[in-house]
Amino acid sequence: MRIILLGPPGAGKGTQGRHLAERYGLPVIATGDIFREQIAKGTPLGLQAKESVDRGEYVPDDVTTKMVLARLEEPDAREGFILDGFPRTVPQAQALERALAAAGRPLSAVLNFKIPDELAVKRLMARIVCPNCRRSYNKEFKPPRVAGICDVCGHALESRSDDDEATIRRRLEIYHRETKPLVLYFWERGLLRDIDAEAPEEVVADRTIEAIADLTEDYG
Ligand SMILES: [Zn+2]
Repeated sequence: MRIILLGPPGAGKGTQGRHLAERYGLPVIATGDIFREQIAKGTPLGLQAKESVDRGEYVPDDVTTKMVLARLEEPDAREGFILDGFPRTVPQAQALERALAAAGRPLSAVLNFKIPDELAVKRLMARIVCPNCRRSYNKEFKPPRVAGICDVCGHALESRSDDDEATIRRRLEIYHRETKPLVLYFWERGLLRDIDAEAPEEVVADRTIEAIADLTEDYG
């Protein structure tokens, strides 16, 4: 199963990705994690990525594509993967499909999580993250069991430094501008389903499974 998750920041892609990873036994490959890893290691691609991240912009296509395609070659991704945050643009999608076609591993499903911008802003403003294990919580919608402490690893939680309102709105604007052609691209290829992601987490998870079954005709 090779799955792509699309959706604006705040749509709950990360959470749904974890549900899918458990259900299908696949790794979630998030560009954010790859960037953090490469930046921490100080690789040339990592340094290029850091410049863009620091400006609040997306990392250039070719840098991102190289990092992700290298990651997909690793052994845990051979049987399938869940991509979160990639591709972001049509050229990235084309590069991915070329690489997968060359390896005889076509895409199975593209899931497009949709929420209104106002809800995305509201969710992101209230988001708190564990700097240790990267699990995210929400003061309003999904609080940790103990205020300010990560359920999973017990580390103190913090607000994301880039989650001020102006930055969030800018990220949403860029997201919509860059991703609309991508949604159309996958839709025309019969690979995409929209998922209404305004509902509670469990409901969205069920809708996601249905959409994958529909796209892959795998109802087992
Ligand atoms: Zn944690």
